[in-house]
Amino acid sequence: MVEWLLLLLPVAAASGWLAGRRSAESAHGSSHSQLNSAYFAGLNYLLNEQPDKAIDTLLDVLEVDSDTVEPHLALGNLFRRRGEVGRAIRVHQNLIEKPCLSSLQREQALLELGLDYMRAGMLDRAESLFLEALKRKSHVGTALRQLLDIYQQEKNWSQAIAIAQQLHEESGEATGPMIAHFYCELAEQRWARKQIMEAAQFIKQALASDWRCVRATLLQAHLAMEQSDYKMAIRCLRRVEGQDPDYLPEILKPLSECYQGLDRQDEFFSWLAEALERHPGCTPLILAQAASLRRQGEPEKSRRFLLEQLRQYPSVEGLQQLLALGVPKDIEAASEPWSLIEEVTRHLLKAKSSYACCFCGFSGKYCYWQCPGCKRWGTVKPFAGNT
Ligand SMILES: [Zn+2]
Repeated sequence: MVEWLLLLLPVAAASGWLAGRRSAESAHGSSHSQLNSAYFAGLNYLLNEQPDKAIDTLLDVLEVDSDTVEPHLALGNLFRRRGEVGRAIRVHQNLIEKPCLSSLQREQALLELGLDYMRAGMLDRAESLFLEALKRKSHVGTALRQLLDIYQQEKNWSQAIAIAQQLHEESGEATGPMIAHFYCELAEQRWARKQIMEAAQFIKQALASDWRCVRATLLQAHLAMEQSDYKMAIRCLRRVEGQDPDYLPEILKPLSECYQGLDRQDEFFSWLAEALERHPGCTPLILAQAASLRRQGEPEKSRRFLLEQLRQYPSVEGLQQLLALGVPKDIEAASEPWSLIEEVTRHLLKAKSSYACCFCGFSGKYCYWQCPGCKRWGTVKPFAGNT
């Protein structure tokens, strides 16, 4: 709090001095004496350890002229950064009303006021200021980024798409992956309203914006599955490996269901074996392969496979599946520690996150397409490695 005053008092002193100089020139002393008394009142509050009152007193009387605009801007920004948004808004609104501001200074103050409104959660007011900035072609990059933030918070996806496209044209920033997620959001909305054709159209637009968008491909696959078009769904699901192999664990269940739907389980088993060769050590693939061996009536082969994989790529999930296969006869006598191990692994898995953000480290049990931690799109991925 006292830092404000270190900044405010020199501004007040400068204002007082300038007002004094002007009043000497024009022989009007009233504003000078008003400022002087406010300056000393502020100083008095400060000495009495009442910094809030000191700041308010000084803000009320500080004169804005071309020499004090910059300190005012700096002060407003400091207030905002410290979370004192009400004061920041007051400083910036006060600035904007002054006729002495150059057009550059006014635009800067309007932008700062927009950022204050963002911070205060007054999105409507912030939106209109940033739209005005776009019209005037001032601070375009900042205005576009803030508008993008606003439309995402409001879940206004079509506006978000338009702004993200403008941001790409303006800054060259790769906004395609983000736009693809916005189209996916629109597709999910339409799907929820049973507007399947529109949903499919948005999915196509998502993939046109970013061919690597796994979310769009998964949506496309699930849409096909809902219409029992398993062949189409399989084509989509198998595409995920080329888009981003980190998401392979996400396709195992639906892919198995599709092959079951076609009564072609063997093809799933052979795809699985090949995928494991391409991605050795991927725990979900190892578990699926062990399960598929059991489904093929090969429990002993499944156990041997799991043991062999666990030695190379140890994982709690693998251990739990091994334990679930039952206690081998030769150690049945010592089954008490065995059940304890089983309980511990179950407990460990219950507490374990299945997904993590590769950008900020956020972890959770669900695959969020927008990270709740850092708000980035497509950075939360399934854990596939051994733990
Ligand atoms: Zn994150």
